[in-house]
Amino acid sequence: MEHYKIYERGKFLALDLGGTNFRVLLIHLGEHCFDMKSKIYAIPQNIMLGTGEALFDHIAECMANFMEEQDVFYETLPLGFTFSFPCIQEGLTKATLETWTKGFKCSDVEGHDIVQLLKDAINRRGVSCYIFLGDMVYLMAVLNDTTGTLMSCAYKKHNCRVGVIVGTGANACYVEKIENAENYNGEPGPQRMVINTEWGAFGDNGVLDMIRTEYDHEIDQYSLNPGRQVFEKMISGMYMGELVRLVLVRLVQENLLLGGIGSDILFTRGQFFTKYVSEIESEKRDEHTNCRLVLEEMGLGHANDRDCAIVRYVCESISRRAAYLTSAGVSCLLDRMNDSDVTVAVDGSVYRFHPHFHDLMMQKIGDLSPKIKFELMLSEDGSGRGAALVAAVACRTAG
Ligand code: BGC
Ligand code: MG
Repeated sequence: MEHYKIYERGKFLALDLGGTNFRVLLIHLGEHCFDMKSKIYAIPQNIMLGTGEALFDHIAECMANFMEEQDVFYETLPLGFTFSFPCIQEGLTKATLETWTKGFKCSDVEGHDIVQLLKDAINRRGVSCYIFLGDMVYLMAVLNDTTGTLMSCAYKKHNCRVGVIVGTGANACYVEKIENAENYNGEPGPQRMVINTEWGAFGDNGVLDMIRTEYDHEIDQYSLNPGRQVFEKMISGMYMGELVRLVLVRLVQENLLLGGIGSDILFTRGQFFTKYVSEIESEKRDEHTNCRLVLEEMGLGHANDRDCAIVRYVCESISRRAAYLTSAGVSCLLDRMNDSDVTVAVDGSVYRFHPHFHDLMMQKIGDLSPKIKFELMLSEDGSGRGAALVAAVACRTAG
């Protein structure tokens, strides 16, 4: 971790699975350039909830199509795989999925090495060319999106020690001294390592119960993974809009909003999108233009100014809570590392698109860790670029 200079040049492939989109990327690392081509592929819901075999077949197919399109089908390229779920990682190229999170629940993947599943899928395609992932793995690395985020920022900012995602899911990683890494039983040598905290699962043992609301319990109950990812469900983009919707429904039912009249859309799960929160909070407090557009889209055109102000207040309360909880986590890591000046790399749709998330975090982390100098830096597309960087570093180490 001490020297991040990338000596390797050339083309790298990356896969990014686990955020809003599944992407395949081709990245060209030059001395001063970073050229990137990428394509988003949809993962239909039946695949997200289907068999692991179908999921990895789909991934292999998208990758092959992309390579053909980019005219690199017959090249042997190193691959980095960002797989943003909790894994037991036993090496750079071995990661066993512990449990699915967010919108995924494919059978026969939990407890399995996902690198092996990807290789099997590629072998099933029976491609005759020398795709590096067949039996002749050229090289690759599997990593979490938080690690990719940290890495792609550390590349420029050498004091970057924390990577945070506030996107579809929520999580963070940080740099820890090896003697504190209880579970590390690899080669002796490295002084420090990146620890993926999986803090989205904080609270799964009940420690957050005193601050969970009835809305949090309802979100959990109707999720794909009840009882799990408690902290994540209070923060991330997959749940934020739905939390707002549940509060609005309650206010309508209590006759405190919209004259007590809702709409089918309002009463349907998942129909208040998280992006609405950002849109509504982007305008001046008494403007309500975006707010009206959102409410009209939801069949709530009968909203008056007071209703709009309430809807905005609900959005603000929920996004502020998310920002503060994230800040509490970051502050713990900063205090634990106790370095004097740290850059925290952050990415994810909520952090990126919410108009005040960054400022709320700056203020709250400052309050909680007043002695530590820190900076929050948007790590542009860490989950994509980070995979290529880690693959590049892995190449150098192996070479
Ligand atoms: C996953 C993490 C991931 C985070 C952000 C969580 O649901 O468990 O591994 O880093 O989402 O994508
Ligand atoms: Mg991502």
